[in-house]
Amino acid sequence: MLNPTRNRYRNEPAFDEVVAAHPDFPRLIALKIDVQRRGVLYTESAFRAVDPERHQLYTWGGVHYPHSLLLRDGTTVLANPQPEERDPYRVEYTEGRFVLVDEGEIIEEVEIWPRPRYYDKKTSSGLLMKEVVSARPQRLDIFASAFCHFAHAEDNGCKFCPLPAHHRQLRETYDLPTRLRAHDVKECIAEALKEPGRFTNIHITGGSVVKGKEILDAELSYYIDLLKHIGELFSTPRFPSQLLATAYNEKQLARLREETGLGSFTADIEVLNEEKFNWICPGKAHWIGYREWKRRLVDAVGVFGRGNVGTGIVGGVETAPPHGFTSESDALEATLSEAEDLAEKGVTTVHTVWVPQKGSEFHELKAPSLDYFIRLAKGLQGLRVKHGLSVDFDDYRRCGNHPDSDLARLQ
Ligand code: SF4
Repeated sequence: MLNPTRNRYRNEPAFDEVVAAHPDFPRLIALKIDVQRRGVLYTESAFRAVDPERHQLYTWGGVHYPHSLLLRDGTTVLANPQPEERDPYRVEYTEGRFVLVDEGEIIEEVEIWPRPRYYDKKTSSGLLMKEVVSARPQRLDIFASAFCHFAHAEDNGCKFCPLPAHHRQLRETYDLPTRLRAHDVKECIAEALKEPGRFTNIHITGGSVVKGKEILDAELSYYIDLLKHIGELFSTPRFPSQLLATAYNEKQLARLREETGLGSFTADIEVLNEEKFNWICPGKAHWIGYREWKRRLVDAVGVFGRGNVGTGIVGGVETAPPHGFTSESDALEATLSEAEDLAEKGVTTVHTVWVPQKGSEFHELKAPSLDYFIRLAKGLQGLRVKHGLSVDFDDYRRCGNHPDSDLARLQ
């Protein structure tokens, strides 16, 4: 039976019904997908129980939100707050625990991400460390640059992407530099690493910068400098790290590998279909192109090695109207066939769950069904098994934002 709100917003079968159709799929991963897909609404009881000393929070529009959630088995859920009319799960606090509630029923116990110790500290230049390097449960995140050439210089950003708007607001609120300074980042990481056993990887990303002698040289040089600074904190030549950047050419990839201790390379293609890519990611299509992006990913395997190169897709965005696939089966078949082409060549594909977000051009649209995401996650993980590919640098411990790589722990 559908509730009236859900019926208005999305006409679809209940969670248990969908999960029952996939008996081999872990229920908690299905729940993670559904919570990401529908978002969350923190109730008054949850807000009252949040403890800024223990929980990791972020501030948006003057409200302190829990950064995100953990499930009983340690599964990370990166869920965005959504208004009531979008039919989100509710997060309540009852009998001494946080719970996910849907249609008045408690679905699962959840925990809020624990606050890292370094969050209270400041850099020597006076910046709050939590605004320079943020944390996931087991990963350090560096959003190095708020500027994306495609979005800001050409109004040609990816249509699902709220990041430029989001980071512009962060920079304005906290008076952060447009690009983080390497010495500030290094100080934060040095402090974060004092917390024993918590962090397993360092993730660096930012918007695309096309400037340079060859296009993207300026972006690359900035990351090289940043990685060199971070590398000084480690005694080994390579350190656990993932750079999520624009797709570089072979010469640029070689520089990255030779001049830094970077462990893995990722360049998100976002949509695994040339025609949809051209429509959804016009900036990437114009400056690099779909086929060249794929070629560069394969080149990266030659440089960084099999199992150390990946690409991300925004799962579900290929169904966005009016030019996306109209059938979920067609979308799945097209996506998995392209992902298999990459897997054969040593590139692993992970997906996020597309959530139409404020600040993005696709903000008013709806994500596809839970069933679609379950089949996509199973399909991508199945390709890794089939082609003997690992995803250690981007799995449930390191990233936690990919339902398909959550499944890798069962591999
Ligand atoms: S997803 Fe697209 S628009 Fe967003 S920051 Fe990356 S390249 Fe720019």
